Amino acid sequence: MNISKPFADLVWSDDGQPYSSQFDDVYFSRESGLEETRHVFLANNQLAERWEKLRAGERFCIAETGFGTGLNFLCAWQLWDQCAPPDTHLHFVSTEKYPLSAADMQRAAVLWPELALWSEQLLAQYSDLTPGWHQFQLDQGRVTLTLLIGDLLDSLPLLDASVDAWFLDGFAPAKNPDMWQPALYAQMARLSGPEATLATFTSVGAVRRGLQDAGFVMRKVKGYGRKREMLAGKFAGSASAAWQAPWYARPAAPSLPQRQALVIGAGLAGCATAFALARRGWQVTVLERHAEPAQEASGNPQGILYCKLSAHQTPLSRFVLSSYAYALRVLHELLEQDGRQWQSCGVLQLPTSDKEAQRQQALADLGWPDTLLRLVDQAQASQLAGVATPSGGLWFEGGGWVNPPSLCQALLQHPNIQLLAHHQALSLAASEHGWQALDHEGKILAIAPQVVICGAADSLRLAPSAHLPLKAIRGQVTHLPATTASQALRTVLCAEGYVSPARLGEHHVGASFRFDRLDTEPSQEETESNLELLQQLSPALATSLQTEQLDPASLPARAALRCTTPDYLPVIGPLVDAEVFRERYAELAKDASRQPTTDAPWLAGLHVNAAHGSRGLISAPLSGELVAAWICDEPLPLPRDLAEAVHPSRFLLRELIRGRGRAGQA
Ligand code: SAM
Repeated sequence: MNISKPFADLVWSDDGQPYSSQFDDVYFSRESGLEETRHVFLANNQLAERWEKLRAGERFCIAETGFGTGLNFLCAWQLWDQCAPPDTHLHFVSTEKYPLSAADMQRAAVLWPELALWSEQLLAQYSDLTPGWHQFQLDQGRVTLTLLIGDLLDSLPLLDASVDAWFLDGFAPAKNPDMWQPALYAQMARLSGPEATLATFTSVGAVRRGLQDAGFVMRKVKGYGRKREMLAGKFAGSASAAWQAPWYARPAAPSLPQRQALVIGAGLAGCATAFALARRGWQVTVLERHAEPAQEASGNPQGILYCKLSAHQTPLSRFVLSSYAYALRVLHELLEQDGRQWQSCGVLQLPTSDKEAQRQQALADLGWPDTLLRLVDQAQASQLAGVATPSGGLWFEGGGWVNPPSLCQALLQHPNIQLLAHHQALSLAASEHGWQALDHEGKILAIAPQVVICGAADSLRLAPSAHLPLKAIRGQVTHLPATTASQALRTVLCAEGYVSPARLGEHHVGASFRFDRLDTEPSQEETESNLELLQQLSPALATSLQTEQLDPASLPARAALRCTTPDYLPVIGPLVDAEVFRERYAELAKDASRQPTTDAPWLAGLHVNAAHGSRGLISAPLSGELVAAWICDEPLPLPRDLAEAVHPSRFLLRELIRGRGRAGQA
């Protein structure tokens, strides 16, 4: 994939209006973009009338082709604030092939002072966007924006959503014929909910006929300003008859669920899950066996925002990229850069071999925005780091370090979340009021219709998630007292290991990876290997830290267990009854091409969010959004193939297809 030229190529007219040189067309009416949007998209989808009738807890989903400057989105959000009742949720999904740079978005926003209240909130989170999907939570989670960056003919087929209203924008059909295709209309039909409406500024006959062929009832209505006509419509087709894998389908959910959930485990995954649900108006109880949240792998003093990407756009790499961008948004929103909670000080990834240097070059050659990553030479790297580095490397200027317990605490601060410490759930039992979480004596700790198991490898102790191939890996971090000279380190350095700038007078260097030892007693051997990692990262820094004179036996260290899976992707989504699954789809063992239609044996209301390995800081926030989207029947924040790549059922499916002995292999 070549992602060079990722941004919109704009020309700004003397009166400050954006013009696309890629499409040779205007973004909106020169007379009044605002009024045009209100007429074409808002009024002709009857949004005000429909929104006034929403009931508490209801959601509404708009999908748009061509996000552009975000004007349509901002106008819709403004109207939403004016007419939707409290405790309702707007989800706006938009596609964009050439996103505006952050600077151009700022410039466009100046055109509409009356939207400043809304545009400022968006701009506070908007950065230069990379290809892939980007999630934004706005207005305390009352409005969700999912931006699908890339050609919509590639991204819409991977969208899982039920759309209530379409904004069919995009440049004029004559200027952008590649977009106005039957393939687009077919996707719109696939994604339309039962009452879906549609509006578009154009009245071109081929568009009207194409939409009609796809199942929309179309009519010509009065256009905006000097445009005589435009099109409005309603979906009248039926759901697609194409086969869908039942094991990845959406479990049936009540349309207005009782919004109460239990989250088991208060590490990063659990706290992020609780927060995502709480923001959606759910009452969440978090059960934690320790006295405090973040006591295990999420308890290190400094975690690193290490965004490891591959030039080959593997599922893991695409997952990491979307997650990283979302994690940064959450960190900027929730934490203070006060030297304790987190620091966006940048991360330098130094190659560990010539091959790795070539991989970095291949990745950088794809042409990412500089604000995400860029290649720097040794002199630049040393200057950025403030200490001499042995080589150049990849510079991620938005990355940095986080104190994970601070993030967990900040997530749990949401008023809809109740933390029950010293509560260890050891079994789950179905009851007429929902799932009961029971302790070792069978005492009921809490009950809720929805439960998310976020117990890392200990999730294996709960029967519904016991079949997952979760593995614990021990990791140890060593704490090093900062010296005057070591304070010069300004960025995180990563190679085989990592070292962070000082926090509260200590640097942290890590981390070991051990499958053979599952206790959490710090070991001298692992501290010694951490000191070797430090030596590779920067001999100059190791000298500044006087590591030669330190006694590894007396250095403070912290060991904990991370959790991973055979394919190194986390496990996020709804759970099934494993035994029934094996029986029900046993035919796949004989012939993997079979297409069974029987529903998967969902354990209604049970989900899991675990196995974030050593990258939980990056992946937990978006994983919370993904679980919440499954539970709330919202558009998924990730492309379908990625949601399936992290789906809990993937292992049972592989076990059936490949034979039990090789279960879970990628
Ligand atoms: N709705 C926008 C607003 O509120 O500013 C204006 C949209 S502008 C007229 C059309 C947008 O569609 C451009 O930003 C363009 O890059 C995008 N676009 C055109 N073809 C596309 C495609 N095939 N896939 C995704 N986006 C596309």
